[in-house]
Amino acid sequence: MGQGIAGSVLALELIKQGKSVLVIDKPELSSSSKVAAGIWNPVVFKRLTKSWLADDVIPALHDFYEEAETMLGATFLENRKMLKLFTEEQEKIFWKKKAGEEMKDYLDPDTFSIHSPVASEAGAVLQTGNIYTAVFLEKTQSHLSTLQYYLGEIFNHAVLEIKNGSVSYKGNSAASIIFCEGHLIKNNPLFGFIPMKPAKGEVLTIHCEDLDIDYILNKGFFILPLGHDLYKIGATYNWQDLTDAVSPAGRNELEEKFRKLVPFAYEILKHEAGVRPSVIDRRPVIGKHPDHPEALVFNGFGTKAVMLAPFFAKQFVEYLDGKGELDKEVNCLRFFEKV
Ligand SMILES: Cc1cc2nc3c(=O)[nH]c(=O)nc-3n(C[C@H](O)[C@H](O)[C@H](O)COP(=O)(O)OP(=O)(O)OC[C@H]3O[C@@H](n4cnc5c(N)ncnc54)[C@H](O)[C@@H]3O)c2cc1C
Repeated sequence: MGQGIAGSVLALELIKQGKSVLVIDKPELSSSSKVAAGIWNPVVFKRLTKSWLADDVIPALHDFYEEAETMLGATFLENRKMLKLFTEEQEKIFWKKKAGEEMKDYLDPDTFSIHSPVASEAGAVLQTGNIYTAVFLEKTQSHLSTLQYYLGEIFNHAVLEIKNGSVSYKGNSAASIIFCEGHLIKNNPLFGFIPMKPAKGEVLTIHCEDLDIDYILNKGFFILPLGHDLYKIGATYNWQDLTDAVSPAGRNELEEKFRKLVPFAYEILKHEAGVRPSVIDRRPVIGKHPDHPEALVFNGFGTKAVMLAPFFAKQFVEYLDGKGELDKEVNCLRFFEKV
């Protein structure tokens, strides 16, 4: 249940492995995936270290989305450079040092100067890019609809029946149900034991004719080119207000950062907000309910669903087929054992 990035990736992986599915999703409900920029980035900028499991999840994301493009007859994967702008000379020296060591696959050792939109020293992150999430979600939905694997309605937990070895919901029976409902897991009576720490985020889509960049620009926030002089700017973090409502404060924060870097006129076309389904230990939550193994969860991808979901969907499906184990770090039982 749920067709954000997590539910979409998992449904396509299950179909690839010859399973039939029924995806229940109400598109009008809160969805983090719809506002996501879709960027993947293997580098943690603070210490210039690898992002968690980068060496495993990057190849898995390429395999998955490239195959999904063929399956769905669409293109949504864009390999792009990401430029990190340096604030001080020390950052450049540290970058060069790390690029010569364990980060050589992800950091270009040749730093350089850019002159527009601002004069700055910069380093390029390798193996980054973005997924056009709206296209991916839309094409997945129409593929599921064509296969009659899609039900566009609100899932009502009270109507779900779990028997020994099967589940049934409004006349549909299956061996199991997998919940991929993002931060709305808070309404799920079965998985309330998972300690979520959701984070609201806001993004702007702008039109800026004079900003001529085809790479992702990062300086504590990102500017992502979308083509046709359109750019996505993001993102904010807010752990108090967990609504989907956009705020003047969010808009001001993003505009201020943008104006500090870009001297050109622009027009805001869209302002969106979503709630990231982050978990207290910042790892996904995957696996079977401790008392009802027919009910499963695939959630908790926080800020990184684009990069992590393909790797873990594959691992999860192998686990369901009895061909492998789930990483202990992501198994939802890590929280249950503590209660
Ligand atoms: C501003 C912002 C920018 C981001 N940028 C990036 C980025 O660049 N890269 C990246 O990897 N991640 C990014 N993220 C994070 C990313 O959005 C999340 O990791 C991802 O969307 C989580 O996907 P999900 O499928 O778990 O949840 P969701 O996208 O929230 O999907 C849950 C789905 O379940 C459905 N649902 C829930 N309850 C019910 C119900 N009862 N009945 C029917 N349907 C239901 C909802 O309608 C929704 O479609 C960003 C997030 C935000 C807010």
